[in-house]
Amino acid sequence: MKRGRWRAAYTRRDGGGALAALLAVLVLSATPAHADNSNWTKPIKPYRVVGNIYYVGSEGLSAWLITSSQGHVLLDSGPSADGAKLIERGIQQLGFQLADVKILINTHAHFDHAGGLAQLKADIPTAKVWASRGDAPALEKGQHFGDNDNGLTPFPAVKVDKGFGDETKLKLGETTLVAHLTPGHTIGCTTWTTAVTEKGRPLNVTFPCSLSVAGNHLVGNKTYRDIVADYRASFIKMRTFPTDVMLPSHEEQGGLLAKRQKQLRGDPNAFVDPTELAKFVDAYEGQFNQELARQQAANPGAKR
Ligand SMILES: [Zn+2]
Repeated sequence: MKRGRWRAAYTRRDGGGALAALLAVLVLSATPAHADNSNWTKPIKPYRVVGNIYYVGSEGLSAWLITSSQGHVLLDSGPSADGAKLIERGIQQLGFQLADVKILINTHAHFDHAGGLAQLKADIPTAKVWASRGDAPALEKGQHFGDNDNGLTPFPAVKVDKGFGDETKLKLGETTLVAHLTPGHTIGCTTWTTAVTEKGRPLNVTFPCSLSVAGNHLVGNKTYRDIVADYRASFIKMRTFPTDVMLPSHEEQGGLLAKRQKQLRGDPNAFVDPTELAKFVDAYEGQFNQELARQQAANPGAKR
């Protein structure tokens, strides 16, 4: 979930003078287009990104197919049953079989990344859902856990077949994905890493879980008391992942459309930027600190 945060931040600050104007500029520059989320369900042609990683999401919301000779892993699901169908069509357009998708994983239990899981599982009955033990209860209930301005933001619940902990390895054929817990945005937010080879060149790939505040209560959060400590630990941890290619869960978190255009123009390094993950973390840590200060000022007596 991301847009809700921007909307909430904008609304709260609207009318607050120069600071509000500055923040509005920041908000707008952070969401250059599609503020209505219509690109979340807008189809685009699926494509190979690097190595055995394929983009099968919509224009605005990512979904990644990681293939192997023993079956495939699908990371993130789109926001809904329709979003799942869009992903399924993308997989088939690339020439892969839905029945070869063996494991469904996601970055976190928010509707925009988990809302299509139930439909995917219904359409691919042999696929197993893996989720972090922190986010599994939210997926199985079909709602956000933890106090949040946006409420429960419900989505179709899905049964989790395997709950995992930090640094779990998912191995399928020649593919290995590692689950790194980076909580805060959700209790079980999971950053996935893998290694690929692109034309003989080894590349480390990171699929970062979101680090945005997204309406989360950082002060007085009764259902997620460690939220501030978790965010801070995740900022530190995320910077330690060696990363040549950062593949985020929202288009605008990594300029995915622009990179795809560069790739279509023949740039073999369109998705390669070893500096990008650090910038991603820096930006979210700055926003987090601003929002924490704002919430502390607004709740002077509240216990953290
Ligand atoms: Zn989210």
